[in-house]
Amino acid sequence: MMPPLTAKDPGLTPLAKKLAGRIAARGPVTLHEYMEACLYDPGHGYYKKRDPLGRAGDFITAPEISQVFGELIGLWAGETWCIAGQPQEVRLIELGPGRGTLMADALRALRVLPGFLQSASVHLVETSAPLRALQERALSSIRCPVSWHERIEEVPAGAAIVIANEFFDCLPVRQIAFDEAAQLWRERMIGFEDGRFEFELSSKGVEVPRHPVSPGIEDGAIVEVRPGAAEILRTFAARAAVAPLAALVIDYGYSQPSSGDTVKAVRQHRFAGLFEAPGEADLTAHVDFSDLVQSARELKLDALGPMPMGEWLLRLGLEARVRQLLACVTAEDAIEIRSRVSRLVGPAQMGVLFKAVVFTGGGLGRLPPF
Ligand code: SAH
Repeated sequence: MMPPLTAKDPGLTPLAKKLAGRIAARGPVTLHEYMEACLYDPGHGYYKKRDPLGRAGDFITAPEISQVFGELIGLWAGETWCIAGQPQEVRLIELGPGRGTLMADALRALRVLPGFLQSASVHLVETSAPLRALQERALSSIRCPVSWHERIEEVPAGAAIVIANEFFDCLPVRQIAFDEAAQLWRERMIGFEDGRFEFELSSKGVEVPRHPVSPGIEDGAIVEVRPGAAEILRTFAARAAVAPLAALVIDYGYSQPSSGDTVKAVRQHRFAGLFEAPGEADLTAHVDFSDLVQSARELKLDALGPMPMGEWLLRLGLEARVRQLLACVTAEDAIEIRSRVSRLVGPAQMGVLFKAVVFTGGGLGRLPPF
């Protein structure tokens, strides 16, 4: 049998050692604190160090699969701008823009809309220095001003169209578990014993954040809460209080209130153990769309959707755009394009698990294709 690892063991990642030291000094951390350290620790956090996307990285996203994705989002943004009355200044904000591919494809498609690029400024909210460098390269030839921000609160006020693809799923979650005997909820914490991280429950009960917990909830049932998502919604509401706002959120997750542990570590296109390599694997959890929609409505925003991503893309005119593309490529490329597009819309692929929801306010109401 392998001897247990200690905090000094060379087999632990640098961040694992740091976390083990913190737990030894101050006691167990919440899952939320663990995820936050794994993703954003200034020296070792997953999103601080690398480009996680693509074949050589850990996962792939819709804009990296097909250009049609970003192009349709561009046209959606253009239509939204028209419905808002073509404001002379519009901020096109992207949260977590990855390699900048979505924005580059969107802006290319928007060239067909007279006046848009003259009115737009692009604001990229990104914490990762390596990804900022890639975004700068991807957007080097565009004709409107581009700026980078650490947080959405830094983006100046004004009419805004926000795009967030696979951004909310990487915001850390808390998990609370129901203790039937004590009739209370406990926080899921992470300790470090015998050289290993392990889950434990807080000894004290925690307040239940608003969540439609069903009356028949079972002992041990886990509910996930994402404080960062609520914070972003509050910034949407603050913007909408003074100017038109439309915010498109696309991610994977569930539409109905749901319980269960959805936190996953992903490394090199495979699931990894949550404690296997802190700081070296992406950590993500399903997005609770019903909670987002309910929170948004409480903040006086309108919420459209969620709608399965496949259906949303088809309603935006995916087929017509694909036909245009196919008209000018070889038969071999046509097969490749078709297969990539089916990956986006196929019900067993990304088409149903991923969903689109749009939050509007500041005078903007219903928007197509809802
Ligand atoms: N939207 C892109 C990338 C998704 S990966 C795409 O579809 O390809 C998640 C992105 O969000 C990365 O760019 C990551 O660096 C960024 N990110 C993660 N957490 C963030 C945070 N708290 N604030 C700003 N950006 C963040």
